[in-house]
This record gives sequence, C-alpha cells and structure tokens, in this order.
Amino acid sequence: MNAEPAHRRPAADPTVQGGTRVRVIVDYDICDSNGLCAEVAPEIFELDEEDRLRILDERPGPERWGTAEAAARACPKLAIALEAG
Ligand code: SF4
Repeated sequence: MNAEPAHRRPAADPTVQGGTRVRVIVDYDICDSNGLCAEVAPEIFELDEEDRLRILDERPGPERWGTAEAAARACPKLAIALEAG
C-alpha cells in the first residue's frame, strides 16, 4: 500500500500514463531552493536573484520530458511532480 501523499511520490512517467501533455508542479512548502533541479534542467527551472525557484517551462514538450523526470529524481526533497494532462 502506498500511503505517501501525491506530492511525495516520485514523478510518474507521463508516457506510461498515456498523456500527451505534462505539467510540472513544485511543492514550494517543501522546496529548500538548493537549485539541484535547475542544474539538471536549466531550461525548465531557475533560481532567481533571491534564490527562489521559478518554473520556466510549466508545460514542457515531449522532448523535455526526460529532462523533467531527471530533475524530479534529483530533488532530494521530492518537491517536484509531473502530472499528465
Ligand atoms: S531540487 Fe527540489 S528542493 Fe531543490 S530547488 Fe529544485 S524543487 Fe526545490
């Protein structure tokens, strides 16, 4: 049984879900702005001048899904989720 809330689950592969659109979601309540996701996927995430995380591409195209997945896996806080649709 998986009792973890949705935002704590590793990002699901949207291709497995059969979706054609993906939305990147960050739980800012648990993000600590360490910037690891921005290092892995600078085309999707960046830290602003005040070290706040910004999503640059909230609905990346399929060519960026792999990078978005890698960024989600790199997040030590499990703050990134990818939703199909
Ligand atoms: S890797 Fe996770 S904790 Fe770090 S800035 Fe990105 S979303 Fe926030």
